Amino acid sequence: MLPVKQAESIILDSVQSLDPELDTEVAELSSATGRILASSVTSQLDFPHWDNSAMDGYAVRYIDVQFCHSQQPAILDIVAEIPAGYQPQVSIQSGEAARIFTGGVMPEGADTVVMQEDTKREENRVFIFQSPKPQACVRHRASFYHAGEPLLNPGIVLNAPEIAILAAAQCTELTVYRRPKVAILSTGDELVTPDQPLQPGQIVDSNQYALAAWVRLCGGIPKVRGIVGDNPEKLKNAIAEAILAADIVLSTGGVSVGDYDYVDRILAELGAEIHIHSVAIKPGKPLTFATLPPSLTASSIQGHKQRSHHPVLYFGIPGNPVSALVSCWRFVQPALRKLSGLPPELWEPMFVNAIAIQDLHGDGRKECYLSGRLRLVKGGYEFELAGGSHSSGNLINLAQTTGLAVVPVGQTFIPAGESVQVLIVDS
Ligand code: AMP
Ligand code: MG
Repeated sequence: MLPVKQAESIILDSVQSLDPELDTEVAELSSATGRILASSVTSQLDFPHWDNSAMDGYAVRYIDVQFCHSQQPAILDIVAEIPAGYQPQVSIQSGEAARIFTGGVMPEGADTVVMQEDTKREENRVFIFQSPKPQACVRHRASFYHAGEPLLNPGIVLNAPEIAILAAAQCTELTVYRRPKVAILSTGDELVTPDQPLQPGQIVDSNQYALAAWVRLCGGIPKVRGIVGDNPEKLKNAIAEAILAADIVLSTGGVSVGDYDYVDRILAELGAEIHIHSVAIKPGKPLTFATLPPSLTASSIQGHKQRSHHPVLYFGIPGNPVSALVSCWRFVQPALRKLSGLPPELWEPMFVNAIAIQDLHGDGRKECYLSGRLRLVKGGYEFELAGGSHSSGNLINLAQTTGLAVVPVGQTFIPAGESVQVLIVDS
């Protein structure tokens, strides 16, 4: 039984990130949300593109207004009106001003904008009652970004701000990492699909749905491969095919020590290197983690677009629905993040300290993960334990989970009111 942190290190060390040359595709800006940039983006445009006004007001020469005040206003002739979107046709001379609006291009000769609130207009003259600072309210060309410098770096996730930046920079096609393919396989004679009537002893294969939803939320492409019974031959074929179809395989069930738990044996027969058999975690102890060397997988990929030769990662996850999701949140997510092309600081799961609202119990020998809700309140986080049974079979208890409180090895109890580490769950 490996400690959780050690298991995480072994997993992360085994992952090879997608290749920024081979594992990429071109995404249209309009459908690039959530994608990860594979190469840096540079713009030929300065930001701002030209000197322009940050306010509605008057573009002036600073020397004309530097000594004015409420008792002795500067009085300037208005010689032009400059709305946003037009090139000014005038040059401002001494004693002159241009009416200008936010975003309007600064006219030649003017260097400062006086905001409207500090002025009074009388026909074609403007009275300036307060001296501005030199160059006030002017957004200078290239003061935000110089053309030719890197605008966005590889590894950046394209969220709303980045999409806006790319649109402004007129970058409508982007080189992004392809989405990792994640095969999902459910094992067990007792499993049926949601549309089948249940016979005695049967249950619905909820893991397939849970894991597919989770993979999608994490930016991967789920490749759902259905249910395979506890039959070693069929399971071996199904696992071999899943390995060829994906970057990561997630199988649930059949990794325990029961008489029908065949996954580890099959993986060994297929030439996999098994790195982890079990982890000191509750729920989710019987976790298998294996890699299949590229030579084993690449040779059989037929008609497949050339892609980098990284090992296929295999996670044999316990079948209990709570264990399955906890294993994904704790162990698969870092692997998926590293594989996806994200930078190292985003690989590891995120923990925060929170005050436990209820007593939390662990078993002392394993790192125990308890589901509940993480809330930001005045002064910090609070963790509220989910109300129902924390049995690893009680899927119902996971609804609305936003955090998993951790009771560490060596500890059996964290009393209410004490601080507890909580794994943030956002998928
Ligand atoms: P196993 O890991 O195969 O020993 O299964 C442990 C428990 O999880 C058993 O009660 C199974 O019925 C249940 N289980 C296994 N696979 C699934 C699945 N795909 N969906 C829901 N429950 C499952
Ligand atoms: Mg089973």
